[in-house]
Amino acid sequence: MPKLRTLGSRVAMAPSRQPATQRTADRRTTGRALQERRLRIWSRDPHCAACGRLVAMHEFELDHVVALTNGGADVDDNCQVLCIGLDGCHHRKTQADLGRARGP
Ligand SMILES: [Zn+2]
Repeated sequence: MPKLRTLGSRVAMAPSRQPATQRTADRRTTGRALQERRLRIWSRDPHCAACGRLVAMHEFELDHVVALTNGGADVDDNCQVLCIGLDGCHHRKTQADLGRARGP
């Protein structure tokens, strides 16, 4: 009986696509935990922390008061509701956090 060829060499583990060292900004809460945090923080105060507008569940982003990239912690106490949109507060703050604030 001929020896069966194995698939060993063809099913070798693919190299990981994850970078060896993740940037701080990539280590943020995601998935179900993030959705639960969104609900928790929005339920506490459903107003945009910057402009004060009352926002619905689909009208805000959870923002890190001190951005992760600037050393902020990924915890509820460092999160706030910011409105979204073309000129929403979240967009403006993100630009500012990244040092790309718009001029006058
Ligand atoms: Zn706002």
